[in-house]
Amino acid sequence: MANAEIVAIGSELLLGQIVDTNSAWMAQRLTALGVNLYFTSVVGDNPGRMREVIQRALERADIVITSGGLGPTQDDLTREIVAEVTGRKLILDAGLLEQVEEHFRRRGRTMTPNNRRQGYMPEGAIPVKNPNGTAPSFIVEDPRGVVFSLPGVPVELKWLFENEVEPYLRKKFNLAEVIHYRVLKVVGIGESAVDDKIGYLIANSSNPTVGVLALPGQVDVRIAAKAANKDQAMNLIAPVEAEVRGLLGNAIFAADQETMEDVVGRLLRARNKTVAVYEDLTCGNLSERLQVASTESFGAGVICNSEVAIRTLLTHGRNPARTDALIQDAEALTDELAWSVRHQARCDFGLALHAVTDPGSTVQNLARGQSYVALTDGENFIRRLSTSAGRGQYDRSRMTLNALDLLRTAVLEGLG
Ligand code: ATP
Ligand code: MG
Repeated sequence: MANAEIVAIGSELLLGQIVDTNSAWMAQRLTALGVNLYFTSVVGDNPGRMREVIQRALERADIVITSGGLGPTQDDLTREIVAEVTGRKLILDAGLLEQVEEHFRRRGRTMTPNNRRQGYMPEGAIPVKNPNGTAPSFIVEDPRGVVFSLPGVPVELKWLFENEVEPYLRKKFNLAEVIHYRVLKVVGIGESAVDDKIGYLIANSSNPTVGVLALPGQVDVRIAAKAANKDQAMNLIAPVEAEVRGLLGNAIFAADQETMEDVVGRLLRARNKTVAVYEDLTCGNLSERLQVASTESFGAGVICNSEVAIRTLLTHGRNPARTDALIQDAEALTDELAWSVRHQARCDFGLALHAVTDPGSTVQNLARGQSYVALTDGENFIRRLSTSAGRGQYDRSRMTLNALDLLRTAVLEGLG
């Protein structure tokens, strides 16, 4: 099986000013193609270090893909270094130059002399047109391996990868095998508990392989199979998926691209139910996700950020005289907030997510505190407590996922 190495070029990557998303994206595509990726490196715009990295990549990989450094400026050195490493001269390619000129003509802009640099490529390289930008790209077939040099701008790189690199690799390396995945998304049980249940599959599987990935409040179980085509891969995946589903049951809330709010929206629509939401620390995240996923099921959302606002909401509750007592009892308060929003918005369900951070907990995403979730249909209540609360992005998504999951479980199993 062919193996590849990615070299991401650009000092801004090393300085942490931009994140190397190109390598992550290409890694996924290479895996799907059935190409092994053994190394990726990041190197700054420094000729000596670029030479060292590209040289080494070419010695140990069949396929070297560089990203970035193909622009017109002095620090864009990729074409020079690839020419050097493959022992070729840089030559002006009339076709590439024409493409650069054409790009400027179409946009009615004048081409500065430094843009001529982009018409050059290593002698004997295969020029590759880039319809989305000025930086042309090229392929060098060296006895040690093949080098693709792609521009750093992600849209340009992705287009060229899909339309030029992939067809080339399929043909050249006779890539008949494909890799397909099924991702099962798990909520409510942590990574180690998932591992405890399906660990034997993770340890003993080869095709398909089983792996887990922990996300905020969620664990993904990934089942990957290698086969001649997608149908065959899916046939290999099916029995393992059934086994995992048997072990994890309803903790699996969705598969592949589907999100928690997609699932909840689908369930609510199928039953013709609406929901109103109360939230505070999540800053509207819960309402936003529900409304976006299923606008017809979403009646109203209230975001409170002060005790005064909570008190006002409770003046329309079941027993306004109890407000002082409720403010002291977060669990009972959450029930009442769920009841009030449901009642005022005339919805089938009221869902309240009330969270309180520990005093003095200033660091975001550490998720220290208490969050209370209550769901009511006006008569019955179900509740969930969790010891995670905070205003950070991860805190918000973890708490929101937990609240959405309560709604999901309630709709699936019947409230009460
Ligand atoms: P250009 O002609 O646009 O300069 P280039 O090939 O020289 O193309 P770079 O200058 O290295 O590409 O990068 C252009 C932009 O693309 C960067 O400013 C950055 O926003 C983005 N970029 C570059 N490399 C990466 C990467 N590895 N991952 C994500 N984005 C990247
Ligand atoms: Mg550049």
